[in-house]
Amino acid sequence: MRPFAYVKPADVEAAVLAASTEPRTRFIGGGTNLVDLMREGIERPDTVVDVTGLPLDTIEELPDGGLRVGALVRNSVLAADRRVRARYPVLSQALLAGASAQLRNMATVGGNLLQRTRCPYFYDTDAACNKRERGAGCDALDGFNRGSAILGVSDHCIATHPSDMAVALAALDAVIEVRGLDGTRRVPLTDFHRLPGDTPDVETDLAHGELITAVEIPALAAPSRYRKVRDRASYAFALVSVAAALDIRDGVIAEARLALGGVATKPWRAREAERLLTGGPADEDAFGRAADAELAAATVRPANAFKSGLARATIVATLRELSTEGTAR
Ligand code: SF4
Repeated sequence: MRPFAYVKPADVEAAVLAASTEPRTRFIGGGTNLVDLMREGIERPDTVVDVTGLPLDTIEELPDGGLRVGALVRNSVLAADRRVRARYPVLSQALLAGASAQLRNMATVGGNLLQRTRCPYFYDTDAACNKRERGAGCDALDGFNRGSAILGVSDHCIATHPSDMAVALAALDAVIEVRGLDGTRRVPLTDFHRLPGDTPDVETDLAHGELITAVEIPALAAPSRYRKVRDRASYAFALVSVAAALDIRDGVIAEARLALGGVATKPWRAREAERLLTGGPADEDAFGRAADAELAAATVRPANAFKSGLARATIVATLRELSTEGTAR
């Protein structure tokens, strides 16, 4: 491992200043992804800024009935919070579907949002990877790409975003609070992660030295649910996942929230499907049409073409379950 400097600031301002003054700095929270990347020589920071001593580990009520979640809240704590379980089952279910119990005990909300793809070529320093080195090429395009994305892809990168939590937060209209040298700003989660385009190494809206301090989740009255399909029952990334909420009134969908994981280069808010669902009947045909419309933009390869059909089936199954739940309320 390369030598690096280590600092542990006492407050947010000092952390942002420390991260902003050197060109190659990384914040470390739970370290569940960053430490692996440093061991492999993929992340090579000169300075690691340890944020675990900062007062960002609380979950607070918002006036509108929503929650403000500190960036250092552990994934396991957030999943178990009684308010999250009652108001946002989609979020609790997504968190519990991610990683292992040990990793959830370490991983933070902020770190979860910033975790890197698990594309195997990204981790293989002998492979060509535009995300690791801009302009190097992409061995996944004609290589092992069974798990790669079918939505939001480019000719430069087809890697999926790995987070389950972020998919639920995308459906929940969460807003990320960011602190930098110029103060605090707020970014909708759906705008936070970037599509790869021709710069897949630039993954988020964060400027150098900016720190995620919290995530705000607006109130949600509708039933919600997270469904994840993967190769084994635990400790595996999604082939397809669906985060959804349906507000059904007199048999008509008043509001639909739908986001997809495992199939896209970023947490994917399914706006086209939502548009078709809203104002229509909550039945199987409508769910299938909405899924087809969203997936019409998919770019598939022989090895990952199955994801399109799997995503359709998972969307329909999740919405069917929610419609039954909504009708029963
Ligand atoms: Fe790298 Fe993206 Fe290609 Fe994977 S898909 S090798 S992460 S550029």
